[in-house]
Amino acid sequence: MIPPVQRGALWSLLEDVRLRDLARSGEKLANIAKYLNRSTGSVRIRAARLNIALAKSGRLSACPGWLELTEDRTSFVFMPERAKIVRKVFELSIAGLGGYTIAKQLNTKGVPTFGRSAKWDQSTIHNMLRNRATIGEHQLKRYRNGEEFPEGDPIPNYYPAVIEEALFKAAQEARRENLASGRGRKGRLITNLFSGLLTCAHCGGLVKFHSNGNAKSLICSTVLEGRGCYRMAWSYQNFEESFFELVVKLDELGKAVDLHERKALTELKGLVGWLSGPEVYEARLGIAIALKAFVSKFEIASAGPNPASSEPYARIRRDGPRRYFEITFRGGAAHTGYAAGN
Ligand SMILES: [Zn+2]
Repeated sequence: MIPPVQRGALWSLLEDVRLRDLARSGEKLANIAKYLNRSTGSVRIRAARLNIALAKSGRLSACPGWLELTEDRTSFVFMPERAKIVRKVFELSIAGLGGYTIAKQLNTKGVPTFGRSAKWDQSTIHNMLRNRATIGEHQLKRYRNGEEFPEGDPIPNYYPAVIEEALFKAAQEARRENLASGRGRKGRLITNLFSGLLTCAHCGGLVKFHSNGNAKSLICSTVLEGRGCYRMAWSYQNFEESFFELVVKLDELGKAVDLHERKALTELKGLVGWLSGPEVYEARLGIAIALKAFVSKFEIASAGPNPASSEPYARIRRDGPRRYFEITFRGGAAHTGYAAGN
């Protein structure tokens, strides 16, 4: 279906030329709007889109909570402390935490909110995680019958960005995974500790958490998209156990040479030990966050070394006997782990 033409959004070439001239002459935004018979908002957006600088007379009315307006309300102020909080929220989401838990964490730590409300709540977190203004984009909106509609294409670099696009994308991916695995507000166990961290040793693709009834597996995204690679999955439960086994083994062997790596392993081993206690959720949360902080590379070879090629539409099999993974902690060398129970 072709969307109806939004008349208000269409600018003629002639108008663009006049806008450019008026802006160059230093005319105020309000006057330009009057001359062109446009709203000030429309003029501002069009100017931003065409990269035309307007005289510092246009008043901005609002901005995302993590930014502030200058005193004369003509531009945005980047707030480093708030940007850090936004980044933290995205990182926690990627680590597998839901909006409810993230809000709770911020409140527990006494992190000040951006607005008037005293506490963080999950809707604020959800809105932030979806908001492309975090990467600097602005989407003009229209309201009809109380509903919100996007108007025109989004404008890049409208706001100072507080996070980079890769982080934004990773968070969307993690949210999709969490929703697909049915973990809602009540989900107390983090389904995939490795969300956004694992890549395929065979093709370099992202390895995703895939749930098919009770069968929860890690599968290369290239395989899931039917674009090739080896049609072999690794059962999630078995992978987790294999990973814990390696962590304990490396720590006991004193394999870590680098100080950071030793710290990472000691912390992870402690958390793994904690899993057998009553606070499983806190332990899993800690592991997810620690992995995000300590791991620089994490590859998984579900089909083992030098696998034979498989038919492009063959059924995806699970747990090949020669499967292994390779993990590198920041500052350390790669370590190879094998399937638990083999
Ligand atoms: Zn692959």
